[in-house]
This record gives sequence, C-alpha cells and structure tokens, in this order.
Amino acid sequence: MIKMRSLLFLLFVIPNIIFGQHNYESHFEHCNKAEHAEHYQDLLKDASREDDANIDLVHYEFRWYVDPAVYQLSGSAAVTFKPEVEDLTQFMLELGKDMQIDSIISEGGSKAFTRVGDFQVNIFNENGMKKDQLYTFTIYYHGEPASGGLGSFIKDNHSGVPVIWTLSEPFGARDWWPCKNGLTDKIDSIDVIITTPSAYKAASNGVLVNEVANADTTTTFHWQHRYAIAPYLVAIAVTNYERYTDMVPLSDGTQLPMINYVYPENLNDAKAGTAALVNVLTYYDSLFVTYPFHAEKYGHAQFGWGGGMEHQTMSFVINYGFTLLAHELAHQWFGDMVTCGSWEDIWLNEGFATYLEGLSRRRIQGRASFRSWQTSKINSVVSQAGGSVKVNDPTNISRIFSGRLSYNKGSYLLHMLRWVLGDEAFFAGLRAYINDRQYDFGTTESLKFHLEQAGQKDLTGFFNDWYSGEGYPKYNILWEPTEKGVIIQALQETSHPSVDFFEMPLPLQFIGEGKDTTITIQHLYSGQVFEVDGPSWADSLVFDPELWIISANNNVKKTVISKTIESQLNVSVFPNPTEDLLSIRAESGFSFQVFDVHGKQIVKGQETSTQSQINTSDWVPGIYSIKLKGVNGKTTVKSFAKVGN
Ligand SMILES: [Zn+2]
Repeated sequence: MIKMRSLLFLLFVIPNIIFGQHNYESHFEHCNKAEHAEHYQDLLKDASREDDANIDLVHYEFRWYVDPAVYQLSGSAAVTFKPEVEDLTQFMLELGKDMQIDSIISEGGSKAFTRVGDFQVNIFNENGMKKDQLYTFTIYYHGEPASGGLGSFIKDNHSGVPVIWTLSEPFGARDWWPCKNGLTDKIDSIDVIITTPSAYKAASNGVLVNEVANADTTTTFHWQHRYAIAPYLVAIAVTNYERYTDMVPLSDGTQLPMINYVYPENLNDAKAGTAALVNVLTYYDSLFVTYPFHAEKYGHAQFGWGGGMEHQTMSFVINYGFTLLAHELAHQWFGDMVTCGSWEDIWLNEGFATYLEGLSRRRIQGRASFRSWQTSKINSVVSQAGGSVKVNDPTNISRIFSGRLSYNKGSYLLHMLRWVLGDEAFFAGLRAYINDRQYDFGTTESLKFHLEQAGQKDLTGFFNDWYSGEGYPKYNILWEPTEKGVIIQALQETSHPSVDFFEMPLPLQFIGEGKDTTITIQHLYSGQVFEVDGPSWADSLVFDPELWIISANNNVKKTVISKTIESQLNVSVFPNPTEDLLSIRAESGFSFQVFDVHGKQIVKGQETSTQSQINTSDWVPGIYSIKLKGVNGKTTVKSFAKVGN
C-alpha cells in the first residue's frame, strides 16, 4: 500500500556525506547452523499463533449484491475449513456488529450462533466436527459496513458516477465479511461472485470466469482465485469501469494478461501508465521468481483512496503514476505471495515495495532517478533522531504505516544489506527467502536466516542496530595524505542512545590528479585509524559517494593526524574483532584498563614486557575500550569489538 501524502515530506534534508558502520558479528556464534535452523522454525511457529487456531481456512465463496449508488452490502460468505482439533463443537469468526447476520447454514441445517462485543461471532455445531475433515458454513448477512482503519468499505463517486471499493489492510476485513482477521492463516482459494446493476462492472481477485447478464437488468461477475490469500487482500470494486488488457512477456516464455479496470474519464492516462509498467513486471519477474500468480493475471482497478493498495492480482490505484504502479506491483511478490507474519514486520511488505520502486527507477529511468529516490529516502529517515523499522506498537495504524520508518528506513535497510553482503549473496538470499516462504507468511527472522546463509555472515548485530535499534550514524572522517598513501581516522556518533555504534563497511572515494579511486574500510569502532596504501595523490575525499548508508551531518576534513597518532603510545591491540584472546604489543612496558560500553571497568593490569594477552572468552559480545599507559608516560585509548565464540 502507499498513500500519496507520504511522498510529500521527502525533499527536506540534504545529507552532506554519508558513512556508517557497525557490528553485525555478535551472537550467531553461540549456536551452530543446525541449532540456528531449528530456532528459526520455532520463531515461525510463534508467528502463526492467532485468533481461532482451531480451524484451518480452506475456501470461501462470497456471493454479494452491490449497487455502488447504495451504501450497503448483502449476500453470503460460505467458509470451508478443517478443524485442527478433534470433536470441535464451536468456532469463532469476526464480523462487525453493524452487519446483521440473517442465518448460518451448514449441511442443510440452521446453526446457532452468538455475538460477543464488536466483532466476535461464535458459531456452534452440536455434533462435534472431526479433525482434518472439510466443513462448510454459509453465513447470510447484510448491512452498512462500518468503515474502520483506512476505509474498509467506501462509497464515493467519480465524475458524478458512484463507486464502491474496499481496502481492508490492516484490520478491516471484519468490517464487511466474516473472517479470521489474522495474518498467518491464508485461505487456500476463493470465489467472489458479485451481482450489480448492469451499468456497472465488478473487479476482484483472480480470473473473471463468468459474466452473466440477468433478466432483472443486473449482471453477475464471477471471479475465481486459486492461490492462497491473506484475508486483508480480498477486495472488490464496482463502478462503470472501462476495461482493457496489456500483455506482458514472462521469463518462462508465457504471456501474462494485465487486466485494467479504469474510470472512463482516465482511460488515456491509464493506458500510458500501464504500458510503462510492462517492462517493470518483466524486470521483477527476472529478478526474483516468476510472477507469483502467473496462471491467472495481474491487474489494476481504479479507486478514489489517495494512493494504492496491492490487492492480490488486482492492485487498486488512484492514478497511473510510474512509482505508484511499480510499488503496488512489487507487493505481488513481497506483501502478497509472501505477506508479513505480524504487523510488527510490515517492513517485509512496505520496505520491499519501496526498495523495488527504487530498483525499477534505476532500471527503467536511469541513475539520476535512482539518486533522487535515494536522497529522498535518506532525508526522510534522518528528519528525526529516533525510530526503528520494527513497529513498536502493532495496534497503531499510523505507526504500522509510518512512511519514514516502515517504508523509507525499511527500504534503506535492504539497500544497506545489499552493500554489506554484495549483490550476489543479497539477491540469492532474497530468492531463498521468497522460495521458502512462498504463498505463506514471512518474518524478519526468516529473512535474516536466508541472508545469513547466502552471505555466510552473521547479521545479528546489523539487525540489532538497523531493525530494532533506532536512529542513524553521523561520521567525522579525518584524513591525511602520506608518502605511501593516506591515513584515515573514522569517528562516529549515533543519533539515538539505543545504538552505541553502527558497524558498517565505509566507502571512501579519493579524488585528485584527474582520477579517483574508492576504498572500503571496515569500521569497527569510533576513532579507528586506517593506513591505506595508494592514493597519496588525492586532494579530496568523498564519503559514501553512491549513498549506500543512512547517515547525516557528516564531516570530512583533510588535516594533520599523523602527529597526533605519533605522540600517543605506539601499541597494537589485536585481533579486532577478538573472540577469546586479545593481544597487546607496545613499545615499552605498560599498564592497562578495559571498560565496557557503559564505562564499567572489566579488568586492569600491568605488564613489564612489551606484550600481553587478555582472556576475553567470558565477556559479553560488544564494543570495549582499552586505556594504555606506557612506562614512558605516553597514553592511548583504543576500542575493539568482542564477538562470541
Ligand atoms: Zn505498499
């Protein structure tokens, strides 16, 4: 989904130069790969707990009468399910109390039900139902649906013609049909049968298998969808649509119909917009896995809500702008085929769709368009000091759909993962994730697992900093050309106390004598010094020239730093990061004190020789600093990372 208003605040901050780096190398080591895989399966199980866990949804057949001139819905929903337990005598669905239930029928008999609170409907079956057998209950109902959330069921008009559409994300399906309103029990398939006055056409998910003109000047549209679908992605829209089809060549050699239901007054705009999307669909199809619903269709239905919504196989859109269409299309992979397993993880839908907007702009419109996309995302993220990609209040709709955090920071989290892992591992990891979770739900943990496997790299620190942690880094890069190359000192502050340091590889572009070269340094702690052979000819340095990293208020300064470094005690502390043994080598005997990030002293000691070793095996992974004083009176402070073992 995307709301157009959220695009407005993109053009504010100008990031000077950007740096970043932190610690994606901490805890993973505590478990071996098999344990890690098991842990991952447990987390998926946790995510699948939801409302009525006693039934597994199999099929819905909806029969609705909709006249867009009348704010009303009437008809039936026949739900087929399998009990997950033996001898089930009652189950629960949700339906808003504004919808009157006329009767509930199963196996030819009327069934008792009770209504509790605003949504809960308890349905009874006197004879216990058997585990894993199929049962169908048809709920006959009608009413004027309450329009919660973003407008679950809306009556509006365009050029004086009435239109009704639905938009259930995140919690609105229950406003207009009896459902399980969670995220992890997808319905295996649906039939949507809509009757409307013959002046109108009805759009929905899947394939239009039948369209029948009835004797009473109504028309019945039968849409059939044979892929698993999350309840919030079931949708209808009814008005005087014009229809046309674009054909899209897929990577498997087949042609996919892209079927468009558009307002007649916008037909020309629509045709130009959807024609431009053909290349984007072909591109996504080649990038991940083939278009997820390729046996059916992709399509658009126009509506009046201020943006777009990725209803499965039929995105609803207000207009035909390139970025909007590219965003909703991306959701067919990330947000429909794989939906987020909890609203806490909405970035798995929105961060991805926003990132694919960027990728499609890069691919179709070129570098400058991508650059402006990058700048707008970074500026949005750094416009406030805090805020995490992880949704800290999954009941709050405006937090779930925060443009700054779920969309923009989420999309850049992906871009930074690509930077950290490299293109090959990044895309391989995404393909493994989507293949693993296809037609089901994903979690941040499942994505992390597949990226770690593909990149052979622990990403715990990365996700702690960039997913659950808040804020972003600010860099101060000091540098000085030497005879052999350059000395660089990289300092970092963070914008929010939840993250003490972002460990990131930092790209530095050196420019001079009509040439340039870009070097990547692995930034493990603030104040880290790097001696790099090579660009002694450089007279300027650009931090993060390709905008790989979210950062702001950076500074780059060419200055004399070798003297500062020389006046300090000449000492090496290694390896960094360290697992169980830290070595110190100095020019003289020395004393030392080690502090954790909170400034608490962990250990101290004295060494008369020029070398020492400290056992760090029991230490908590993290960043430590060591203060050293030589017998010659010189002092220095160094930081190092301790990782697990
Ligand atoms: Zn979206």
